[in-house]
Amino acid sequence: LPKELTQLVLDNLREIPDFPEPGVLFRDITPLLSNGEAFANLIDGLAAHYRGHIDAVAGLESRGFILAAPLAVHLGIGMVIVRKAGKLPGPVLGIDYELEYGTARMELRPETVEEGSRVLVIDDVLATGGTAAASIDLLEQAGAKVESICMLLELAGLGGREKLSGRDIDSVVIFE
Ligand code: AMP
Repeated sequence: LPKELTQLVLDNLREIPDFPEPGVLFRDITPLLSNGEAFANLIDGLAAHYRGHIDAVAGLESRGFILAAPLAVHLGIGMVIVRKAGKLPGPVLGIDYELEYGTARMELRPETVEEGSRVLVIDDVLATGGTAAASIDLLEQAGAKVESICMLLELAGLGGREKLSGRDIDSVVIFE
């Protein structure tokens, strides 16, 4: 990914300690979204990088949607939504996965994925990688070829990259 994007994201981030629970340092991308020039430059930069290499963009609920939609429109390709449990009408494919406390579930309508299509998965933060791993699994079950994974922020200490081992992960910013 272009180096300018790293600075652009770093310059437009906010860190909130103890949110949504004590001990979590929440990385908030809302300053980036509300800075129209920065948001546009980010999407332009990502579009230039992926143009010609992907056939669809998959956004992970919910901040992944905010990134996937303008990118898909910019590239003139479709968007696939991977949602949290119970939001999509059936038939859906679903996968349950472990969180630090408890479990979660992601779902996908398989007919929104074209067989053999090259898909970019995008989200705001890669933490443990559980959400991305489950989403990738669903996309592949539905026939996608997951070409790349794009994360604005990677929290390197939490094992996400290891969980997605062998995958091509483009993180705009990596926090060691
Ligand atoms: P994980 O499945 O552990 O990789 O968590 C990824 C999901 O949780 C992403 O969709 C993020 O939006 C969210 N997330 C996890 N940790 C953080 C954090 N420190 N700040 C903001 N969002 C986070």
